[in-house]
Amino acid sequence: MADDSTVDLKLDQAHSARMYDYYLGGTTNFPADREAAGKALAAFPSLLATARINRRFMRRATRFLAQQGMTQFFDIGTGIPTSPNLHEVAQEVTPSARVVYTDNDPIVLAHARALLHSHADGHTAYAHADATNPAELLATPEISGTLDFTRPIALSLNALLHFITDDGVEGGALGVVEHLKAALPKGSTLTITHVTPDFDPEGIARLTGAYRAAGTPGQARALADITRLFDGWDLLDPGVVPTQRWRPTLEDQAENVTDAEAACYAGIARKP
Ligand code: SAH
Repeated sequence: MADDSTVDLKLDQAHSARMYDYYLGGTTNFPADREAAGKALAAFPSLLATARINRRFMRRATRFLAQQGMTQFFDIGTGIPTSPNLHEVAQEVTPSARVVYTDNDPIVLAHARALLHSHADGHTAYAHADATNPAELLATPEISGTLDFTRPIALSLNALLHFITDDGVEGGALGVVEHLKAALPKGSTLTITHVTPDFDPEGIARLTGAYRAAGTPGQARALADITRLFDGWDLLDPGVVPTQRWRPTLEDQAENVTDAEAACYAGIARKP
């Protein structure tokens, strides 16, 4: 891992991780991020709910997977930490759980220490790597040194793949996902959340426009394209559904968000 002092945070440019932190009410964001986030919110006013519901799903899904016996977690595009973060949720169920976080944003690297307070029985690691080059990412020592690729791994790509455009990387988002899936053994799981235009095409077109204007191209995808990312693996109930509909607790249900506000699909599948 690079020394924090060598990291160029590029504070004059908006970054998706810091914009997302702003929506979640975090403090790791700067004027350029807040300006771009303001424009994104003007374009799509439900974005605060979208982000909050996505983050709630991450915790719900992690708890579910840990309760299902998953002990290794691999979270790509993890974002700036929030509390509780993924390893805390997993290690609350299974203290010995091993977790690797990955992101390509220097600000996440700068905050990585907060991600590394593992339960003494488990282990957490952070890898600074780019998902658009999955071969290089998988070869990162923090990943291969923490996770045992002969035993099931719970891979999560939450709110990541809509930042991987099909013309921006060879093979598109599907190619990246297939590469990662092929590296995982039987019994592994794949968790995805992804922005969709299905419920509010105009709002989401405005939102992607605002992100593009801020220097972050993105691609919202329809249900069939998001479902295709799980091809060959067994989707767990209830399948690919709007984020807030994926096994909600009573507390989640009380949030009363609409599909258009959630604006994302979520799904979890297991490798047969
Ligand atoms: N997974 C978290 C954060 C989502 S925000 C959650 O769902 O709550 C999206 C994150 O993906 C940001 O932190 C951003 O820096 C990261 N990201 C975007 N493109 C990436 C890439 N090519 N490789 C790795 N991370 C990327």
